[in-house]
Amino acid sequence: MSFLKINNLSVDYEMRRETVYAAKNVNVDVNRGEIVAILGPNGAGKSTFVKIALGLLSATSGEITVLGKTLTKNTVDIRRKIGYMPEHDCIPNEMTGVEFLIEMGMVSGMSLSGATERTHEILGHLRMGEEKYRLISEYSGGMRQKIKLAQGLIHGPEVIFLDEPTSGVDVKTRDDLMHLLHFLDHEF
Ligand code: ADP
Ligand code: MG
Repeated sequence: MSFLKINNLSVDYEMRRETVYAAKNVNVDVNRGEIVAILGPNGAGKSTFVKIALGLLSATSGEITVLGKTLTKNTVDIRRKIGYMPEHDCIPNEMTGVEFLIEMGMVSGMSLSGATERTHEILGHLRMGEEKYRLISEYSGGMRQKIKLAQGLIHGPEVIFLDEPTSGVDVKTRDDLMHLLHFLDHEF
């Protein structure tokens, strides 16, 4: 089955004085187990593409199916199976990393014990030690990036979208983030 299928997608942003074309006639077909990277300079339309695939933005024209279904008609059903790591910071400061991830797992319908177990497993693969019990407000940029990735994976999604996952991190943190992705690759 096609996991993500996009036919002739175009996206225009109507601004006050101009129309910005963020995507023009994009066609994509991704199957189970495939990892696809979208490359392009700043402003190329990468984040827009991800938001369209998530159903957070509407396309100007074209068709999108995720896991064989149209997003507009099966929003909750599909979102349950999707993970998203946004480009910009989206995590609360006044919780510890562990508390936040357990909360996110439970929001997605996991039990307390299931979410707790998964949280420690993911943070272990991200090579986070005692800092997982510190407040997120005290985290470095790399630690925040790890938590941002972890929250997108906590509920065991079938499809994951990562927007600039290694932006602003050092080589060691990049290895830690990749280590988790390689582990998940075996899980699928
Ligand atoms: P990338 O992620 O590749 O850097 P974006 O998808 O963020 O690119 O942006 C693609 C184009 O769409 C850019 O020209 C950007 O200015 C424009 N754009 C992005 N978001 C909006 C928005 N909410 N309103 C208007 N224009 C936008
Ligand atoms: Mg972007």
